[in-house]
Amino acid sequence: MSNSGSNASWWERAEKVLPGGVNSPVRAFKSVPGDPLVFNKAAGCHFTDEDGNQYIDWCLSWGPMILGHADCDVEAAAIEALREGASFGAPSRREVLLAEAFLERLPHFDQARFVSSGTEAVMSAIRLARGFTGRDVIVKFVGCYHGHTDSMLVEAGSGLATFGAPSSGGVPTGFTDSTAVLPLDDDEALEAFFSEHGDKVAALIIEPFPANAGLLIQRPQFLQKCRDLTTKHGALLIFDEVITGFRVGPSGAAPLLGITPDMGTYGKIIGGGFPVGAYAARRQIMDHISPNGQVYQAGTLSGNPVAMAAGLATLEKTGRPGFYADLERKGARLQAGLEKAAADNGVTATVVRQGSLFWTVFQPEAPRSFAAIDGSKMEIYGRMHRDLIDRGVYLAPSGWEVGFVSAAHTEDDIDTTVAAVADTFKSWS
Ligand SMILES: *Cc1c(COP(=O)(O)O)cnc(C)c1O
Repeated sequence: MSNSGSNASWWERAEKVLPGGVNSPVRAFKSVPGDPLVFNKAAGCHFTDEDGNQYIDWCLSWGPMILGHADCDVEAAAIEALREGASFGAPSRREVLLAEAFLERLPHFDQARFVSSGTEAVMSAIRLARGFTGRDVIVKFVGCYHGHTDSMLVEAGSGLATFGAPSSGGVPTGFTDSTAVLPLDDDEALEAFFSEHGDKVAALIIEPFPANAGLLIQRPQFLQKCRDLTTKHGALLIFDEVITGFRVGPSGAAPLLGITPDMGTYGKIIGGGFPVGAYAARRQIMDHISPNGQVYQAGTLSGNPVAMAAGLATLEKTGRPGFYADLERKGARLQAGLEKAAADNGVTATVVRQGSLFWTVFQPEAPRSFAAIDGSKMEIYGRMHRDLIDRGVYLAPSGWEVGFVSAAHTEDDIDTTVAAVADTFKSWS
């Protein structure tokens, strides 16, 4: 088989040997028109496909590449580690170093356990929460994504508390009937649920800035209510910071919001582009995980030195003075530019943003719950997506997904993107 080809020839081959042509579903462009591009290299914020076209990338591997692609320090650290052996399956210095760097940024936790994905982090955190509390029920919210572990693949209720029916084939109802699903931004539903079932709840899990069904920024009072009710009923509060950790600020969302969760789950950025996840808590909770405690969790490749080295280099660079202020400035410039492009061309759109996370939604106001998102508008996003590909800009291939600003995006990249968006909107009128 040939090693070279075009986007179209690679995609044709991909569809034969990979289900849907992909290894993760959103990559398949099912929510936007056209076939996926097939990429062959990336550097900084630039992405090159097999036809040789270059794009400004605002998807950035769905968040991990906060420094941009192929950052030279991350690359050097990973190569140095690789030369010393890709995986040990035994204690090694880099996992200690990453844990120390990680916990230094998260003083509300004492210990962390590294795994290989965000999904695995959540799965393990939930098991630990259940083992620690001796309770079964996990509360999650409609529109929050916590990876694809069985018990978290639960369908949205219709505004009322529901005990979940699985939203994926292959998940027995027995696996989700201890998962309760509540709407975001609804204090009454939350209170009602806890007053009835609070003594059975092991944990409430929430993305502190929900960023997997657009960006649904919550009222601080609602998040505080999550904290107060879990405390009152002896349940744990888990912040799923797989996207927000080291993204929305030097330590993620918890310190920014002034709310201290009992556990946190991490991924994406902490691997610097390699497969890493982590969960963390106070020692009294972490003591329940094996080998110290009765809750089992393990991993052949967990803490592998190459991924640890990449994560460490990434955390080191994001810890430099002014790093997040720079991202904030860039995010604000992009937001203002996109909003102006829409207004100038009579397009109704809102750009929701938290630091370097942004989401363009074709509605007059930022929604705060899944039900408040007008799904019929996703078709507009699809058109924009395709038109921007033609103009050298690559956005996440779904209107339900957020975009990511990296340190590698320059003002020039932002202005070029805004001009392409303005040109696209103009072409529609
Ligand atoms: C991406 C994500 C996950 C899943 O992480 P994977 O590494 O894709 O398994 C879990 N929770 C949140 C909030 C995420 O954004």
